[in-house]
Amino acid sequence: MKRVYNFSAGPSMLPLPVLEKAQEELINYKNSGMSVMELSHRSGLFTNIIMEAEQLLRDLLSIPNEYKVLFVQGGASQQFATVPMNLLHNSGKADYVNTGSWSKKAIKEAKKFGDIRVVASSEDKNFTYIPALSKDMFDPEADYVHITTNNTIEGTYFSTIPDTGDVPLVADMSSNILSEELDVSKFGLIYAGAQKNIGPAGLTVVIVRENLIGHASDTCPTMLDYKTHSNSGSLYNTPPTYGIYMAKLVFEWLKKLGGLKEMARRNQQKAKIIYDTIEESSLFTSPVQKNSRSLMNIPFISSSAEIDASFIEEAQAAGLETLKGHRSVGGMRASIYNAMPLEGVEALASFMKEFEKKHK
Ligand code: PMP
Repeated sequence: MKRVYNFSAGPSMLPLPVLEKAQEELINYKNSGMSVMELSHRSGLFTNIIMEAEQLLRDLLSIPNEYKVLFVQGGASQQFATVPMNLLHNSGKADYVNTGSWSKKAIKEAKKFGDIRVVASSEDKNFTYIPALSKDMFDPEADYVHITTNNTIEGTYFSTIPDTGDVPLVADMSSNILSEELDVSKFGLIYAGAQKNIGPAGLTVVIVRENLIGHASDTCPTMLDYKTHSNSGSLYNTPPTYGIYMAKLVFEWLKKLGGLKEMARRNQQKAKIIYDTIEESSLFTSPVQKNSRSLMNIPFISSSAEIDASFIEEAQAAGLETLKGHRSVGGMRASIYNAMPLEGVEALASFMKEFEKKHK
């Protein structure tokens, strides 16, 4: 069996022990005579899966009791609309921080629903840094402030969470949720597509403070009203059952490894290896300002597009897959989420060093 080191930004690597467990349970789940994919979402066995998944996530992130966990569909992109539809209920105003392509999409979508202001942006420097934010920049009347905590394409990351005072903070955490410990109480709402640190694509996780539920407009579709999913324990309709099962296995794996404190240690160690390799190199550079660098997505470039192309091709031949940067920025990008083993990062770092020697 040959598995590669897959540096894809998402869908991305899943932990091997999780895949093995899923394989072991695939055909006959807990003696039911069927797979999880074939189980009714109302069955006792599935009820246990979804309850355990929620409890494990609550334990990992120490989610306070006044927050609901919702398992929904539509990806983070659906949340770009769902958030304003549910939260713009007082002033109809919201403040957004523009830190990259995904923030821009969130802003564009939210503008369909209310008075959206961009309070800070790093677009002036190609989104290579996280703008400085202070409480006085935010409108105290806004219904919420929105940030993208990790910018998957540009490789930047909020190392400190802004203080928005009494205005609820909403965060798209698609590409860094579960990568380190988090104080959930600083947020009104957190959302994330599953396909990076949670499980396979098709599941979206929303963590929302109870007092932000129940304010959707009358015209909000039932399926997009947080109340619908909150009142039904995410079982209003058929949820992505297999995705929830896989997420549960990933959460169990995280817990067994020592939880998010241990994950943070590993992620820092892994990212440092790549950043150090870039710093020591005379061929590769990072476009991102040092204090804004992501631990999950590391973009880098060589001295020319041709060398970038041969790097990507030769890396693939060496079992280091999907290192091409996003089509909007080019170059290379190594996405090293929780499931990327240390060995994968070490293999990439030595490949970079070897490649540099050859191309001097
Ligand atoms: N936000 C961020 C930060 C992302 O990285 C992505 C996907 N790469 C999205 C939103 C869009 O997510 P989805 O494909 O789940 O809609």
